[in-house]
Amino acid sequence: MTRTALVTGASRGIGQAVVRRLLADGVRVCGLYRTEGEAAGLLAKELGSASPRGLALPCDVTSAEQVRDAVARCGEEFGGIDVLVNNAGVAPFAMLENLGLQEWEATFATNVTGPYLVTKAALPHLRAGGSVVTITSGLGITGAPGKTHYAASKAALIGFTKALSRELGRRGIRVNAVAPGIVETEMSAPNAELRKRYEAQCALGRIGQPPELAEVVAFLADHRSSYVNGQTLMVDGGM
Ligand code: NDP
Repeated sequence: MTRTALVTGASRGIGQAVVRRLLADGVRVCGLYRTEGEAAGLLAKELGSASPRGLALPCDVTSAEQVRDAVARCGEEFGGIDVLVNNAGVAPFAMLENLGLQEWEATFATNVTGPYLVTKAALPHLRAGGSVVTITSGLGITGAPGKTHYAASKAALIGFTKALSRELGRRGIRVNAVAPGIVETEMSAPNAELRKRYEAQCALGRIGQPPELAEVVAFLADHRSSYVNGQTLMVDGGM
């Protein structure tokens, strides 16, 4: 039977690579994007011409209404959801002394409340044998200067993953997280100094590429990882 995946932040970066990797596995993909534009247009084109045909839908994960509508549309149109990938996220930089409450709350709104809203909306549609994969971050474990809000939000996702795995296990649904190191996307691009420091510390001596993360997500998404549950898998080249 064709499996259906719902991916947030699907139009670029790691989300785009995950979409393409799942399509290569023959999965039907419903890709959610926030910003209209070239990248969203390309996503719609790729999913619309895929076999089986998928769907691109606008959805800001901080909006309960948009999440409710987009997830319901995906679940109803495709008769259920087998894979949920909570990928959308933001990674702002601010030292704590300069970090305002608004920026703190905005980071949590996207990185923590977003996955909460999307996963909760997906619950009634998730089929037995399904898999929830959430993209957290190595920084949620190690931390870094200027990243208290980001690290705290990503650490929250590790607890979310563990707890939810205990709620959904008896329904035959697995819940795992992937914690990337630094990956070549628009998110990491502005921080040249951090990237350089990372390359110096990383056992492989380089930052990761989106398809390398997507490969692990695809593994956690299907039967090949049938006994992996409640885990946060570091994908960081060895730190
Ligand atoms: P990008 O900045 O390239 O992409 C982020 C994606 O998230 C975009 O599609 C963006 O949509 C979407 N997004 C952001 N906010 C919202 C929102 N409120 N609602 C819906 N979508 C939203 O980042 P990456 O691909 O690198 O990051 C993907 C995930 O991986 C994130 O969770 C990030 O924290 C995590 N990660 C990334 C690392 C890296 O080094 N790149 C390292 C560790 C973790 P839009 O195009 O509209 O902005």
